[in-house]
Amino acid sequence: MLRIGIGNDTHRLVEGRPLMLGGVHVAFARGGEGHSDADALLHAIADAILGALCEGDIGIHFPNNDPQWKDAESLQLLSRVVWLARERGLQVVNVDATIMLEAPQLRPYVFSMRENISEVLGVEHSCVSVKAKTGEGLDAVGQGLAVSAQAVVLLES
Ligand SMILES: [Zn+2]
Repeated sequence: MLRIGIGNDTHRLVEGRPLMLGGVHVAFARGGEGHSDADALLHAIADAILGALCEGDIGIHFPNNDPQWKDAESLQLLSRVVWLARERGLQVVNVDATIMLEAPQLRPYVFSMRENISEVLGVEHSCVSVKAKTGEGLDAVGQGLAVSAQAVVLLES
């Protein structure tokens, strides 16, 4: 059996917060505002897996009013979601994701992000694609006010 899921996540960029993407600390003056570490990439991937399982979204599984998830590492949230998929007898085949961020350049960080994600998902490095784009100076991403990410995940039994 094959299952496909899509995920989407956005966080406002604010001063005094680390910018976490794919479990990597990106050097920047601002970071994602949020209850957890606000890792938009990992949240999009977790949502895509939950979508493939028809299990709602991360807001249901990790409520932002639950102190347990305050400043939680999103790699841990993702690993909980992967565990849920395994419970259903499903394994990740591949992930394709895009980060939308105006600055800084993410290319130097992408390899480490793919490494973190493939480790948690239990797949080869070559099964995790992470792309980075800017908002071309348009909309909230383009104006440097937000970071967002999209992901598609394929699972098989
Ligand atoms: Zn998020």
